[in-house]
Amino acid sequence: MKNVFSLTHSQLRELISSWGYPAYQADNLFRWLYGKRTKSFQLMTNLPKSLRKKLSQEFFIGYPEVLELREGRDGTKKYLLGLEDGEAVEAVRIPERGHTTFCLSSQVGCRMGCKFCATSTMGLRRNLNFWEITGQVLRLMEETEGRVNIVLMGMGEPLDNWENVAAAIEILKEWMGFSPRRITLSTVGLLPRLKEALLRFPNLRVALSLNFPDDERRSKFMPVNRKFPVEEIIKTIGELPIKKRERVTIEYVLIKGINDSPADARRLGRLLRGLRVKINLIPYNENEIFPWRRPEDERTETFASVLREMGFSVFVRYSKGNEIKAACGQLRTSWGKGS
Ligand code: SAH
Repeated sequence: MKNVFSLTHSQLRELISSWGYPAYQADNLFRWLYGKRTKSFQLMTNLPKSLRKKLSQEFFIGYPEVLELREGRDGTKKYLLGLEDGEAVEAVRIPERGHTTFCLSSQVGCRMGCKFCATSTMGLRRNLNFWEITGQVLRLMEETEGRVNIVLMGMGEPLDNWENVAAAIEILKEWMGFSPRRITLSTVGLLPRLKEALLRFPNLRVALSLNFPDDERRSKFMPVNRKFPVEEIIKTIGELPIKKRERVTIEYVLIKGINDSPADARRLGRLLRGLRVKINLIPYNENEIFPWRRPEDERTETFASVLREMGFSVFVRYSKGNEIKAACGQLRTSWGKGS
């Protein structure tokens, strides 16, 4: 038995026609699976009975299994989701004013090696398949009504698994009604892939994890910077095929005593001058792996106001769900340690 979600739309069309049914029955099946999120072939009433039977002999309808669920005081829910080979990834459901945000993982672990990120310490165990990415959405939708935004900001580097991420976005768009403008891809800055991603999905939102305002510190904390340094990132942001009025989000994790001084804020502001960006400041989520600390809120506010005075839109992401380790690989990496 095989998970029906592991087949692409065109594979299912081929299979269903090879069984002697019209290929459009694959469209119907996709609508049941992704649009209506039906979990039993028997309930797919516009498919011929014999096809339903054949499908249920060949396939199961498999969502990632909820291994652990934690809920924070603010309603943030963090899921540890089990995959068919025993691996597990995190997904987070964040209630916001007027909508819900799903934070999804793109890989089991990550190979970017950022020296402040819990996920990096796992290394890359494997890429997620496209259906394990859409599967996170299907699972979180079970508890969700109303508008949903998606951020690819969980475990992994989405552009290091672009083929599967793109296939997942395609399904979200075609079969689940998600406009790519409601999907934000967060990246360390794999620049050629980033351009490719926007050519394929021109409305996709982009968040770039800059985090440090100069090559010296960025290379030290984010080894990928040696390949795609700050200057290249800035240049590329200026060239991205982004619609007028739309802006790239610059993410900047504030680490106490490392990159959080007013001088750093000014340096960041000078770097970004003239670009169509907004800035998300993320006070560091402390963890048991790295010695880094979160700056005091006052320090964070000073950093933000320096940038605001320079004319930038700045948002401070006081992290949600911190007390449930709903941040940055901390549930998966602490899983099994009794925390
Ligand atoms: N690889 C992608 C997406 C996953 S990381 C990327 O780097 O953008 C998502 C965001 O979380 C990044 O901006 C990263 O810098 C930030 N991050 C990682 N560890 C963190 C921590 N301990 N506290 C706060 N932010 C963290």
